[in-house]
Amino acid sequence: MIPNKTIEEIFQKARIEEVVGDFLVLKKRGVNLLGHCPFHNEKTPSFTVSPTKNIFKCFGCGKSGTSVGFIMEHENMSYVEALHYLARKYNVLIEEVEKKPEQIEEDRQKESLILINEFAMKHFQYNLMETQFGRDAGLSYFTSRGFHQGTIDKFGLGFAFPDGHNLQNEAKVKAYNIDLMKQLGLITEHNRDFFTNRVMFPIFNLSGRIVGFGGRALTTNDKTPKYLNSSESIIYNKSNILYGFFQGKNAIRKEDHCLLVEGYIDVTTLHQAGIEIAVA
Ligand code: ZN
Repeated sequence: MIPNKTIEEIFQKARIEEVVGDFLVLKKRGVNLLGHCPFHNEKTPSFTVSPTKNIFKCFGCGKSGTSVGFIMEHENMSYVEALHYLARKYNVLIEEVEKKPEQIEEDRQKESLILINEFAMKHFQYNLMETQFGRDAGLSYFTSRGFHQGTIDKFGLGFAFPDGHNLQNEAKVKAYNIDLMKQLGLITEHNRDFFTNRVMFPIFNLSGRIVGFGGRALTTNDKTPKYLNSSESIIYNKSNILYGFFQGKNAIRKEDHCLLVEGYIDVTTLHQAGIEIAVA
């Protein structure tokens, strides 16, 4: 929990024109500032920022609020996340109180799991782009499906080698915890890489952290399903995550609806075609 006096300090120090100005171009209009509203589509600017009142208001769609409200809405953050964001921006020290030891332990564990997933994503990306085998097997698949490099980067796409040890060998070199990798479903109980000979789709949560993976087989037979997903863990609840939501959140907010499609390839190809409201 953040102490009340710290919250007050954040509200006081966060200047609305500076907070909004990090995201929008604002022009002076009398005592106020004016820009194009990020929350609805408009040709003439009606998004007004009042430094004296320290609030924003859009006369087009009616959205209004404080710096904290703006960050929550614009960055899809919770109230507490927005406070932390502004505290960092304005060098306000947050001394959390009443955080239970179990909570601290759980946060620590979640962070470890996410860091492992981020390592795995980078490793799969390296395989795809920097190895001859990965380029021949994985990148050529994406290219044949019409993927541009920008799309491959935006979605962090990668490639898992077929041998069953490539990921864990690298993990051991870098001293990642193998038991945690098993918890994440990256390594099986039989000590083999879970994803083999697959192109890899990392699954982002709303803050852009990696919570799981989907892998598409490059060769299919009766034994290997076309798609495999990471198992659920304390950071990955399949019913709570939409693939593509992180990459599409600004477009979805603007258009106020989304397009639900079936799978990874649908989302990525639609995004590439400019339809960024697609999620799966
Ligand atoms: Zn608006």
